[in-house]
Amino acid sequence: MNNNEIVTELETVVGERFVSNKPEVTYLYHYDFVTTEPEGKCDIAIIPGSTEEVQEIVKIANKYKIPLIPWVSGINFGSIATPRRGGIVVDLRRLNRVLEVNEDDMYAVVEGGITWADLQGYLEKNHPNLRAGITWSPPGTGVIPSCLCYGMFDLGMLGGTGAEFVNGIEAVLGSGDLVRVGSCSLSDYWYGRQPLPDLAGLFIGWEGTTGIVTKMGIKLWPKLPFREDFTGVALNMETGVPILLKLSKAGLGICDIVILNFGWGQSAQELNERDAVKDAVAANMPDFVCLITTQAYTEKQHEAQCEAIREICKKGRITLLSTEDGVEAIKPPPIQLWGCWNFSRGGGGQWIGSYCSNRDIVKYYNLSREVCLKYGKIPQFYSRIMFGGHYCVARSNVNFNKNDPNDINNARELLHEIHESVQDLGGVVMYKPPLWAVEYYKNKTLPATTELIEKIKNLLDPNNILNPGQGIGED
Ligand SMILES: Cc1cc2nc3c(=O)[nH]c(=O)nc-3n(C[C@H](O)[C@H](O)[C@H](O)COP(=O)(O)OP(=O)(O)OC[C@H]3O[C@@H](n4cnc5c(N)ncnc54)[C@H](O)[C@@H]3O)c2cc1C
Repeated sequence: MNNNEIVTELETVVGERFVSNKPEVTYLYHYDFVTTEPEGKCDIAIIPGSTEEVQEIVKIANKYKIPLIPWVSGINFGSIATPRRGGIVVDLRRLNRVLEVNEDDMYAVVEGGITWADLQGYLEKNHPNLRAGITWSPPGTGVIPSCLCYGMFDLGMLGGTGAEFVNGIEAVLGSGDLVRVGSCSLSDYWYGRQPLPDLAGLFIGWEGTTGIVTKMGIKLWPKLPFREDFTGVALNMETGVPILLKLSKAGLGICDIVILNFGWGQSAQELNERDAVKDAVAANMPDFVCLITTQAYTEKQHEAQCEAIREICKKGRITLLSTEDGVEAIKPPPIQLWGCWNFSRGGGGQWIGSYCSNRDIVKYYNLSREVCLKYGKIPQFYSRIMFGGHYCVARSNVNFNKNDPNDINNARELLHEIHESVQDLGGVVMYKPPLWAVEYYKNKTLPATTELIEKIKNLLDPNNILNPGQGIGED
């Protein structure tokens, strides 16, 4: 492949300024900034400014059969935007506009590379009565990848995963064709995916291997006038989790329930490993922390909800702290503060993040805790009860020093072992899976299901140019 020739052709699409094969530019796109995964190679980086330009880029890539990797910030924790087989990284960050906000149906139509900072800033300024579900990821990370990859927001109890916030999609297929799915395929409205065949699934969970999403309709929510953020502490997961499951099914205006262990809390406090408590259980310290957010339209409703939450927690031996108790509760982070996490431990971080049954939260924690301690790492656990208590996400994080190959290796082995051990629970499925996890799941489905996935991939991306080597759908 003659890169210069391709760059010259790409320049006719986006102009000289927005395409480059210079190593000082391309090296930024070789790897996921934080994970243990091996780096890839970006041959050319390009930053398109419109859907039409994305289409032209896809046509050129098809002509040369060169890989294309859709990319917003590449900090997804699974290395799923890492160019495994070289090629062109399509940095979508110029496509960062909010195109429309519909206050009646509460949705926003946004472009494919919009970041959380772009979206939150726009809404605060122009639609202060509405809000988006927000991640805890750094402000410069992408909204659309979070939705496409089943990310989690601080409204998970209301709306489920990011994928469930998706109303409609415009995408350029691997073939170069432009499609729209959802109500926007028949009208100017992006109010939902009903009642047509739900083709959004052709792009959700595929990690950019079927199409480049150039626009998306996403659900917004009302910002209610009354809100309380409780922080709860209990002795252990066995005590705390069942009470939160009860709360999750009790209504009470709850829009978010997060479960953390002591180790996770220490990590968020930036305590380095030397000074942190290794195992809260052995140290006889409370190893269960939770965050519960409730909101209401009227003061009376709010008081009643808070009172019920307090009562249920008290009976279940969860000690709640809130402003009303005269204790400053842990406020939800000035959101993306958490993105600065792990400076003191060497900058590396990865997780085994899985969706699973609520039944398995405590078991997941205990299994992952054992493995972390075996590898000399502080167990760091995080779980969110989702969508009114219908399922949960459970996740075990590990920090490591990016400059220490032994530490990287240790973290890698730890992650594999947690993954192996939690599979015994059944129903535990990793999201944003790194390549090895994709391989693990590949032949676990019914053969006809695997075949169907491969056929869909072939249909949408006949030359296998989109994020190839990522595994999903490749036979
Ligand atoms: C400290 C920290 C905290 C985090 N907390 C959260 C959290 O609370 N919730 C959460 O959901 N995530 C969280 N994340 C993960 C991640 O940063 C977010 O999900 C983020 O929004 C993903 O965006 P990105 O820009 O990193 O995606 P990228 O890495 O650029 O892309 C991810 C995947 O989507 C594909 N893709 C990107 N754009 C498109 C497109 N337009 N069309 C098709 N495919 C596309 C890519 O090819 C890739 O496969 C966290 C990350 C960090 C580092």
